[in-house]
Amino acid sequence: MAPSFNTHRSSPFSPERPIPCPQTWFDPILKDRARSFPQIQLRYQTELQNFIQDTDGVTVDLVDQVTGRSQQIQAKYLVGCDGSDSLVRSLLGIQVRGQRHLDWSLNVYLRIPNFKYLHRTEPAFRYVFVGPEGTWSFLTMVDGKDLYRLQLIGVDKSALETADKHGAHRHGRGHYLRLHSKAP
Ligand SMILES: Cc1cc2nc3c(=O)[nH]c(=O)nc-3n(C[C@H](O)[C@H](O)[C@H](O)COP(=O)(O)OP(=O)(O)OC[C@H]3O[C@@H](n4cnc5c(N)ncnc54)[C@H](O)[C@@H]3O)c2cc1C
Repeated sequence: MAPSFNTHRSSPFSPERPIPCPQTWFDPILKDRARSFPQIQLRYQTELQNFIQDTDGVTVDLVDQVTGRSQQIQAKYLVGCDGSDSLVRSLLGIQVRGQRHLDWSLNVYLRIPNFKYLHRTEPAFRYVFVGPEGTWSFLTMVDGKDLYRLQLIGVDKSALETADKHGAHRHGRGHYLRLHSKAP
């Protein structure tokens, strides 16, 4: 068993210790901070589809994913924070070094009341499921109460596209998973 977060000491460089903070908590904090600057506009559900750079700056093509409306924006700079599959990076012709994808995984949020009574191990932040084939899943505490994230690793890419809302099959290695409940 790995040591509990409670036993982690702060390092000589920072009083901060590792503390889990799910994205569902962290993103609203980040959003409120961004909104506090009058010069920042947030546009959710908006996809960058292309951009052109010239001596005056950058012209960006955006599409509202809800209405389908296209829009062009001009800016001095464009910063690509669009993740591992970055369109900005590929439009700039920047190659990915190393292995493109290490793994595909499927994440399912589950509400499991009284989880601690359903197993015989100690309460933990994360449970790792290991079978004869190796590690096949993680169950990670999200809210410190009853919300968990089940991460099925080594999933076929097609399983990500066809995953249904009421259940998930463990693809490829023969595991079947029944979901007791699922967060929205
Ligand atoms: C299941 C899982 C668990 C993880 N757990 C941890 C953890 O515990 N601790 C940790 O440090 N890291 C963790 N990571 C890794 C961490 O999430 C990533 O390293 C981090 O999110 C990368 O941040 P990013 O801002 O570069 O990209 P992302 O978080 O991927 O953000 C990119 C954003 O750009 C948007 N986007 C992409 N293309 C476009 C486009 N064309 N137009 C508009 N928007 C676009 C995407 O929708 C997304 O919102 C985890 C990752 C996964 C998948």
